[in-house]
Amino acid sequence: MSQIIDGKAVSAQVKEEIRLETEKLKQQGIEIGLAVVIVGNDPASQVYVRNKEKACETVGFNSYKYALPEETTEQELLELVDKLNKEDKVDGILVQLPLPKHLDDKIIINNIRPDKDVDAFHPVNVGKIMIGDYSFLPCTPAGVMELIKSTGTEIAGKECVVIGRSNIVGKPQAMLLLHQSGTVTICHSKTKDLAKVASRADILVAAVGRAKMITADYVKQGAVVIDVGMNRDENGKLCGDVDFESVKDKASFITPVPGGVGPMTIAMLMKNTLTAGKEHHGVK
Ligand code: NDP
Repeated sequence: MSQIIDGKAVSAQVKEEIRLETEKLKQQGIEIGLAVVIVGNDPASQVYVRNKEKACETVGFNSYKYALPEETTEQELLELVDKLNKEDKVDGILVQLPLPKHLDDKIIINNIRPDKDVDAFHPVNVGKIMIGDYSFLPCTPAGVMELIKSTGTEIAGKECVVIGRSNIVGKPQAMLLLHQSGTVTICHSKTKDLAKVASRADILVAAVGRAKMITADYVKQGAVVIDVGMNRDENGKLCGDVDFESVKDKASFITPVPGGVGPMTIAMLMKNTLTAGKEHHGVK
C-alpha cells in the first residue's frame, strides 16, 4: 500500500508561508495585488476564479476581479490588459483560460507584461524556464515538484517519465525535473509501448487528460506517481489519469484526485504573485 500525498496539506503549508511573508510586507506598507480576468460564463472557469480569489484572501493579497461578458472584443480585452500592466497596485495578472473561441489566447498572453505574468505563460517566461533562470515557475509543474519534495524523494539521477507534452504541463514539467538532474523521458500520443516506457519510471507524472488510463501495468513497483489529470469518470465523478485503485498498491507514493495536484496549482500561483510583488517593490 502506497502513501497518499496530501496536496491539500502541502498547499496549506505553502500558503501559510506566503501569508506570513505577506503580513511582514504589510508592516512595511507593501500590499500585494492580483488581477484576475475572466471572460464569459464557462462554469469551470468561474470555479477556478473563485478559488483563486479565496486563496488571495487566505494569504492576504488584494484581488481584483474583472468579469467581462462573452462578447468582449480582442481590442477591449487588450485595453484592459494594458491598463493592468500599468496599474501600480497590480503585481500579478492572470487571464483565465480558455478564452471564448473568438479570442486568441496567445495574443492576449503575449501582451501581459512578463514581470506580471504570474501564470508564466508569456514566451519570455517560457524561455526563462528553459534556461533555468526564472522568477516565475509554471504553476502546475511547480506544484508537482513541491509534492515530490514532500515525499523526501531525491530527483537527481532518477528515471522520470512525464506523460503529456502540453505547453502548460508536460513540457515545463519535464524541464523542471531535468533542472533537478532527473533523467527525463517525455511521452505523448505517438509514443510506442507507453506502458513499457512508463514502467521504467522512478517518478511518473501523468498529464494526459484521459480518465484512469494509467493502470498498474504502467507503474514500476515503488514508483512515485503524480496524477495531474482532472477528468470525469463514467459516473461524472472527478478522477485523474491514474487508475488509483489499481496503482495504489504498487506505487510508494501517489497523489489522489481530487486533493493532489489541484490545490498545489493555486498555491504556486500565490507564490508567483508574491515573487512578482516583491520584485515590483524592490524587496529582496
Ligand atoms: P493537453 O490535452 O493539452 O495535453 C495532453 C497530452 O497528453 C498531449 O501531449 C497528448 O499527446 C497526450 N496524450 C493524449 N492521449 C494520450 C495517450 N493515449 N497516450 C499518451 N499520451 C497521450 O492537456 P493538458 O496538459 O492541458 O492537461 C492534462 C491533464 O491535466 C488534463 O486532465 C487537465 O484537466 C489536467 N490539468 C490539471 C491541472 C491541475 O491544476 N490539476 C492544471 C492543468 C491541467 P499529443 O501531444 O501527442 O497529442
